Amino acid sequence: MKRIYKISGMHCASCGVIIEKTFKKEPAVKMAEASFGAESVKLDFDESKITAEALSKKIEPLGYSLILPKQHDHDEHGGHGTAMADPHHDHTRMLKEEELGAMKLQVSVLMPLAGVTAISMVLDALRSTGTVSELPEGLMLFFKFALPLMAAYALFIPGKMFLKGVWTFIRHRVANMDTLIGIGTGAAFVYSLVVVLFAEQLKNYINVENIYFDVTIVVIAFIILGKYLEARSKLKTGDAIRQLLQLQAKTAILLVDGKEKEVPIEEVKHGDLIVVKPGGKIPVDGVITDGHSNVDESMISGEPMPVAKKEEDGVISGTLNKQGSFVFKATKVGSETMLAQIVKMVEEAQGSRAPIQNLADKISGVFVPIVMIIAAVSLALWLVVGYQTMPFSQAISFGLMSFVGVLVIACPCALGLATPTAIIVAVGKGAKTGILIKDAATLEKLYKVDTVVVDKTGTITRGKPELVNFINVSRRSDAEVLSIIGSLEKKSEHPIAGAIIESVREKGIELKEAQSFKAIEGQGVSGELDGQKYFVGSPALMKKLGLSPEESKVAEFVEGGATPIFLATEKELLAYAVVADELKDGAVEAVANLHKMGIKVVMLTGDDKRTASFIAKKVGIDDVIAEVLPDQKLEKIKALQDTGKIVAMAGDGVNDAPALAKADVGIAMATGTDVAIESAGITLLHGDIGKLAKAVSLSRVTMRTIKQNLFWAFIYNIVGIPLAAGAFYPILGILLNPIFAGLAMAFSSVSVVSNSLRLKLRKL
Ligand code: ADP
Ligand code: MG
Repeated sequence: MKRIYKISGMHCASCGVIIEKTFKKEPAVKMAEASFGAESVKLDFDESKITAEALSKKIEPLGYSLILPKQHDHDEHGGHGTAMADPHHDHTRMLKEEELGAMKLQVSVLMPLAGVTAISMVLDALRSTGTVSELPEGLMLFFKFALPLMAAYALFIPGKMFLKGVWTFIRHRVANMDTLIGIGTGAAFVYSLVVVLFAEQLKNYINVENIYFDVTIVVIAFIILGKYLEARSKLKTGDAIRQLLQLQAKTAILLVDGKEKEVPIEEVKHGDLIVVKPGGKIPVDGVITDGHSNVDESMISGEPMPVAKKEEDGVISGTLNKQGSFVFKATKVGSETMLAQIVKMVEEAQGSRAPIQNLADKISGVFVPIVMIIAAVSLALWLVVGYQTMPFSQAISFGLMSFVGVLVIACPCALGLATPTAIIVAVGKGAKTGILIKDAATLEKLYKVDTVVVDKTGTITRGKPELVNFINVSRRSDAEVLSIIGSLEKKSEHPIAGAIIESVREKGIELKEAQSFKAIEGQGVSGELDGQKYFVGSPALMKKLGLSPEESKVAEFVEGGATPIFLATEKELLAYAVVADELKDGAVEAVANLHKMGIKVVMLTGDDKRTASFIAKKVGIDDVIAEVLPDQKLEKIKALQDTGKIVAMAGDGVNDAPALAKADVGIAMATGTDVAIESAGITLLHGDIGKLAKAVSLSRVTMRTIKQNLFWAFIYNIVGIPLAAGAFYPILGILLNPIFAGLAMAFSSVSVVSNSLRLKLRKL
C-alpha cells in the first residue's frame, strides 16, 4: 500500500537520497521516493512484513524519523498517513513551527556573536595593513579569550547538528550537507585550537598569528541564519494545505427526530440529515433534501460567483452557505469528501518528483563525496604546489581556507530546493483556483503542450442547455411525447438530459420509470415505456435506425449553433427537439489567450458538424472535428500526436476517459464531487476553457521558475567551488574567505525559495 509520510530531520536534498537508499535496502519496501521540498517520503511496502514504526527505526540512527499518524486516526478513517487523518490539527506544521522557534532563538544569539567577531576581524585587518599600530591591551585580551569561547559555543550548541553529520559519516558512511559544514567548521576550530595551545612548539613552522575561530563562528551564524530564513519561507510554500484544512468545519448540526443536535464532524455518517444555517459552513458532501440557498464555492472551485442550490443539488464540504438555510443528506464523509480528496491529491502532488529534478538529484547524490575529495585535493595542492611559491605558513593558511571554503560553499541545498519548492507553490496555487494537479510530471508535460483539444459541451459552452424548440410530428399529445423524452433522459448523465428534464418538469408533466435504459455513447439513449422501445438522440442515431428527419425543420437552429435531437421508435420519428447552450463567459478570451501562448485549439465533439462549426467560429477556434463517437476521440488524439503534436485533451472524464488517457495530458472537467479521475493528470473543478488556459499558464510560469532556480543553483556551485578552492588565485590573486562562502551558501538557498514563493503572486 502506498503511503506518504512526513519526515523530520531533513536538511537538504542529499538527505532525501540517503533516506531513499536506506529504505530501498529493505526487502519489504517496493518503492521509496523522498521529497526534500515536501519533507516527506512516499513509501510502498508490504505491511505484513514490516511496520511503519520499524521503518522509522531504520532511519533514526541517521538522524531522521517518520512522523507517524496517531493510532486512532488509522482505525477511524482507514487514514492514509496524511494530515487529513486529523483535520483540525496540523501536527507536522506544529512541529515545524516549534523547530522554527528554536532556530530563531539560535539566530538571535549567533548574530550578535558574529557581530563581535566581525569587529575583531576588522581590527585585525587594520592592524595587519598598518592602519593602526597598537590596540588597547584589554581589547586584545578580550578577543583572545572571547573568540575561542564563542567558536566553541557556535560549534557545539547551534552547530551540534553539523557535528552529528560528521558523526553519522564516521559511523554509517553516509554524508549529507551537515557533514560538509561540520567537517569544514570543525577543521577550522580544531586547527585554531591546536595552534593556540601549542603556539610555542609550532611557531617555527607556521604562522601562529593566523587562527580561524572567526570562521567557525561566522560561517555557522550565516548558515543557521540561512536555514532559518529558508525554513520560514518553506513553511509558506506549504500554506495551501493548511488553508484547505482550515475550510473543514469542526462540527455539524444533525437533524435527529426533528430536533437539531450539534455533533463533532467525525460522528457524521452516511445518510445523516444535516442542517445548514445562513452563513454556516457545509460540513460534509451531500445532496439537499429541503430548502434552497446560494453557496459560495470559491474556496473549492475558484469560481467567484455564489452558486444557487435547491433540492437535489449537491453540496460540497468546506464551502460556505450564504443567506438561505437548508437540510441535506450526507453522502460522503470523512476521507471520502471532496475536500479530503483535494487535500490528499495536493499532498501527493506536492511530494511527487518532476522529471526535470532528476539531474539535480543525481548530482546531489554524488555531490557530497565529490566535494569532500575536491576539498582534500585543494588542501593538498596548496601544501604541495603552493609551497613552491610561498612560505609554508602561508600555504597551510590558504590550504585550510580552501578546504573549509569548498566544504561550506558546495552545499547542494539550492539545487535540491530548486524544483520541489516551485512545484509545491504551483500545486497549491492551482488548488486554490480549482486546478488540481495529479503530480509534478503532469505539470512539466503540460508546459510542453502545443495543442489543446477541447470538448464542446461544458468546456466551451455552459453545459446547461435549454430546450429552445419542440416539434411534435406524431399523433400523440405534446404532453405525452415530452413525458416519454423526459422519462428516458431522467436516467442519463448527459448535460442535454438535464436541460430537457428541466423544461418538461416546468410544464408540470409527470415522468415515468423507463425500463431497460441504455446510454448510447455519444449518440443518445434508449429505453422502454409500457413495453414500447424508444430512442432519443442525435441525427447519427436516427440514421442508424434508418430514419431520416426533415432537414428543413432543424436547419435554421443548427446553423445558429443549437443541437438537434429526436425522439423515435425503431420505425417511426415522433418528435424534433432543439437544445441550445450558451457560450461560457470568458471562453472567447481564453481561446485568444491560448492562441497567444502559441497553442492550437481544436474542438472535438460528438455534436452535429454545423452546430459545432458555429460555436467554434464564435469563440475563435479554427479547427473542428465533429460527429465523432467517444471511442473515435482517442483515434483523433492519436492522429494529432502522430503529426508530432503534444496534445492536452480536456473532456468530462466520463465517456472521454480513453481519450484523456491517450493524450499527453488529460484534463478532466469535474462536475460531480469526484476529484480523482484516474485517466486525468489535471482536474478542473467547474472546469472551462478559461481555467484550462490558466492551467497552461501555471505550468509555464512554474517551469520558468524551476529553470531559473536550477540555473542559479548550478552557476553558484560551478563558480563557487573553484573560487573557494583557490583556482582563481594564480590568475586573479583572489581566494574566497570561507566566511563569504557561508554567506553565499545561505543566500543561495534563501533566494531559490523566495523565487519559488514569487509564483504565489503571479497572475495566471
Ligand atoms: P460532446 O462531444 O459535445 O460532449 P457527446 O459525445 O457527449 O458530445 O454527445 C454527442 C451527441 O450525442 C450530442 O450532441 C447529442 O446529439 C447526442 N446525445 C448524447 N447523449 C444524449 C442524451 N442523453 N440525450 C439526447 N442526445 C444525446
Ligand atoms: Mg461529452
